[in-house]
Amino acid sequence: MTPDMTTSTARKLQRMQALADEFIGIRQRIHQHPELAFEEHETSQLVAERLQAWGYQVERGLGGTGVVAQLQRGDGGKRLGLRADMDALPIVEATGLPYASRRAGVMHACGHDGHTAMLLAAARQLAHGGQFSGTLNLIFQPAEEGGGGALRMIEEGLFRKYPCDAVFAMHNGPGVPQGRLVFRDGPMMASSDYVTITLHGRGGHGAEPHRAADPIVAASSVVMALQTIVSRNANPMEMALITVGALNAGQANNVIPQTAVLELTVRALTREMRELLERRIKALVAAQADSFGVRAEIDYRRGYSVLVNTPAETEFAREVATELLGAEKVDRHGPALPASEDFSFMLEQVPGCYLIIGNGDGEGGCSVHNPGYDFNDGNIAIGSAYWVHLAERFLAVAAQ
Ligand SMILES: [Zn+2]
Ligand SMILES: [Zn+2]
Repeated sequence: MTPDMTTSTARKLQRMQALADEFIGIRQRIHQHPELAFEEHETSQLVAERLQAWGYQVERGLGGTGVVAQLQRGDGGKRLGLRADMDALPIVEATGLPYASRRAGVMHACGHDGHTAMLLAAARQLAHGGQFSGTLNLIFQPAEEGGGGALRMIEEGLFRKYPCDAVFAMHNGPGVPQGRLVFRDGPMMASSDYVTITLHGRGGHGAEPHRAADPIVAASSVVMALQTIVSRNANPMEMALITVGALNAGQANNVIPQTAVLELTVRALTREMRELLERRIKALVAAQADSFGVRAEIDYRRGYSVLVNTPAETEFAREVATELLGAEKVDRHGPALPASEDFSFMLEQVPGCYLIIGNGDGEGGCSVHNPGYDFNDGNIAIGSAYWVHLAERFLAVAAQ
């Protein structure tokens, strides 16, 4: 890093610090008016209005309530995508904050209000004072919390209409020191799949088991057998998870029921492991059912993909962070996380990197999805300065 670079990054941080109050206000306003997946009407309205006023070409309604804002400058050929999510959760807020949710049972408990505000602040700075040459695409997506808003935007033509050479996203991370940026190469967040297994037996009198085919005994055996997939089929050095979260069968002590139903959550940290788990669950359940004389019906629903950061873009994102904040504020090799994230769908289409910005709170602090959670407003300046620096480096004027 040259001394020039040091002054310019310091200036970037100062500039965003000066803008921070306005965007903290916007963050708290979004926090006060949270909206659930695909219902982000007011939020997307607020976002779109601002972006339009700053000179972006704005499309609304992509993927339901998604917003894409584009700004072209100079004759650079590179195209960058930056993504923020806008949705809240069905949680009754218990923070007691002056700007707590005014919508009963809906809350920004995952900090997406902060993601939206950080990207907006960066958008404003890039429009007014940004030194770049190329195409900037800002993606404000709906429904990250289980609704797959990213996938819907992609299906409705996101990257066809707004091609990107790389795409980046940032999530706040409780328990990580405030403002610290955390990176990880390759697989970072787990896939999440949902499986419903219905075992069809033959009901009968509880005193005449020999005339029935008992789905409860079969289901019990299936639950135990499933444990062996993780312990015996999966490589012990790799993450694999199968949880039987529900097992429902029968209503009376003297009746053998017709069916038993199991509900599973399945997670993995590589695409290969995800395939292995699906293959083994299907084979094992079919064989178990057969051995008990019952029939298994398996509904295997694929949820979010494994989130995989690509090497070159991750290294670039890390370099940008180090230039801006110094090596001591950057965690170059953070841990993988068992949660899942639909930015994974974007990373299946376009290379890029997902990173964490520390929310502070220390170990044992409040976690996301908790009624007491709140995004740390101290990160508005840091996160937005990071986006500005990343955009100016990716779409560098001199490099084209
Ligand atoms: Zn969440
Ligand atoms: Zn989230």
